[in-house]
Amino acid sequence: MTEIPKSHPRYESLLARERIAQGVKDGITSTQGLIAQGRGEAFDYLIGERTTPSAKAATDVAAAVLLFAKRPALSVNGNVAALVPEGMVELSKVLNATLEVNLFHRSEERVGKIASLLRRLGAEKVLGEDPDETIPGLDHARAKATRGAIFDADVVLIPLEDGDRCEALVRMGKKVIAIDLNPLSRTSRMATVTIVDNIVRAVPNLISFAKDLSATTPRDLQSIFHGYDNKVILRQCVDEIQSHLTKQFQ
Ligand code: ATP
Repeated sequence: MTEIPKSHPRYESLLARERIAQGVKDGITSTQGLIAQGRGEAFDYLIGERTTPSAKAATDVAAAVLLFAKRPALSVNGNVAALVPEGMVELSKVLNATLEVNLFHRSEERVGKIASLLRRLGAEKVLGEDPDETIPGLDHARAKATRGAIFDADVVLIPLEDGDRCEALVRMGKKVIAIDLNPLSRTSRMATVTIVDNIVRAVPNLISFAKDLSATTPRDLQSIFHGYDNKVILRQCVDEIQSHLTKQFQ
């Protein structure tokens, strides 16, 4: 990877860009993943490259929902595997959740490489290489899912997901938690809980919140997400973007 000096004002962003480029070279990330990263960067710029109060609130609720789940599953695609593979493995352990490699532009080779990477990093439960079910309402290639992970999970974490798949999972009756820098995307609007934050910040926050809540009773976990309204959070996020932008020219 290109050496980036830590003193560079946009170090984190450039590092993420390098990781995605390396992911493409390693056959983990699709070339379309480069475009998704660019769109994410643009929104991150507008947000101010920080975890906003609304994102923090959504992350706290997401941690409670995931801890409360009976069968949580975490979806991993090529961008997620390039940016936060260690974080996803740690999160799966903290939540006792199954990881499922789930690719929009699926190739068996890429699925295998990502699953191997996660196992090399210590993941215990990785599925996705042999999908045995289909998600209703999606075309065949995009519908693939696995029993024991996304297909029969009650709560699914979908970082950087496409809107159709998010909608189809919600239609199946699952609680869906999205991580997406674009508060306007279909995924963000469809999900049960949307964390509008960069995955490189959101996953460490989720790990830390889940650890903090690990001794919380199911009843108290429920009270954290009882009455949660995702629209209110997305509206707050847009307000935060607006006030961040206004401040730039004062
Ligand atoms: P939708 O179908 O939900 O409207 P889309 O077509 O706009 O989605 P995709 O290209 O399917 O978007 O998915 C990429 C999404 O992931 C984008 O909304 C982008 O903002 C977001 N994204 C990209 N990089 C990151 C990142 N590092 N952290 C969080 N979100 C990201």
